[in-house]
Amino acid sequence: MNAGVRGLIFDIQGHSVHDGPGCRTLVFLSGCPLHCAWCANPEGQLPRSRVMYREQKCVPTCRRCVSACPHHAVDRDSTGLRLDRARCDWCDTLDCASACLHEALRVAGRAYTVDELLRVLRRDQDFWGRGGGVTFSGGEPLAQPEFLLAALQECRASYMHTAVETCAHVETALLLQVLRWTDWLFVDLKHMDSAAHRAGTGAGNELILRNIEAVAAAGWLGRFIVRVPIVPGFNDAAENLQAMAGFVARLGLREVNLLPFHRLGASKYEQLGLNYPYAHTEPPSQEVLLAAGRIFAAAGLRCYTGAEAPF
Ligand code: SF4
Ligand code: SF4
Repeated sequence: MNAGVRGLIFDIQGHSVHDGPGCRTLVFLSGCPLHCAWCANPEGQLPRSRVMYREQKCVPTCRRCVSACPHHAVDRDSTGLRLDRARCDWCDTLDCASACLHEALRVAGRAYTVDELLRVLRRDQDFWGRGGGVTFSGGEPLAQPEFLLAALQECRASYMHTAVETCAHVETALLLQVLRWTDWLFVDLKHMDSAAHRAGTGAGNELILRNIEAVAAAGWLGRFIVRVPIVPGFNDAAENLQAMAGFVARLGLREVNLLPFHRLGASKYEQLGLNYPYAHTEPPSQEVLLAAGRIFAAAGLRCYTGAEAPF
């Protein structure tokens, strides 16, 4: 019934084993209400398609994108190629990427109908084996509620296991509605102090905390996993980790998944012409992660880190 609803997806990755049980396909939806300074998927933060430029692939003698751009936003001289990002941000054609024959320009963010997405997932379903499925991530998947709900309903009708990863800065009623249609839910908890949360993500944490409480109290029978990104200098102080552990334990939840900060998304910032505030931040050491794990374990929580997650 909803098969024609369209959603903007900036990536689909098969064969993942980190975001739910078994072998999974990850679907990344564009648009997010937060703007975390360490975000590994900056191309998915805004609710629109964006052009990404990889200089290494660009052919020095080529000018195809210069000619193709209807907004005169590309300039090429002896020092290289430059995009006027202010114009690109409002571009409705992305003709430059269509003109590029060398994959130096590519578009992140393509509209799919639910039917088109399900065709991809049914193809992947043969590779999942027992226990695999699909995980909706982003960006923030609940930022496209009509598409997400329609896709989840179609997945259930096709007997696919589903998981949703959310930042939880979303309407509570919508989050509770999504619970009806997903098997697992991952919710990020980033900081217990609202001012610090706002400084790192652009928004306070009140709605997120309320939503975690609402899910915990919903009597939902799916698996609910709180995820804590460990971001050096932002949220890794013992005091904050203890406050997080106490909050999660008081709600009667049992598990926490720590996600160490990494810089795997750094090249995407370059490709988008953006500054990456965490470009020189080192990932947390093993000692820091072990100490964090001990804090959550002391609160009676089962705590596991990154890819060690026992899904
Ligand atoms: S994104 Fe649009 S404005 Fe920017 S270079 Fe490409 S065609 Fe031109
Ligand atoms: S069309 Fe592609 S290869 Fe040619 S100049 Fe533009 S980005 Fe470089």
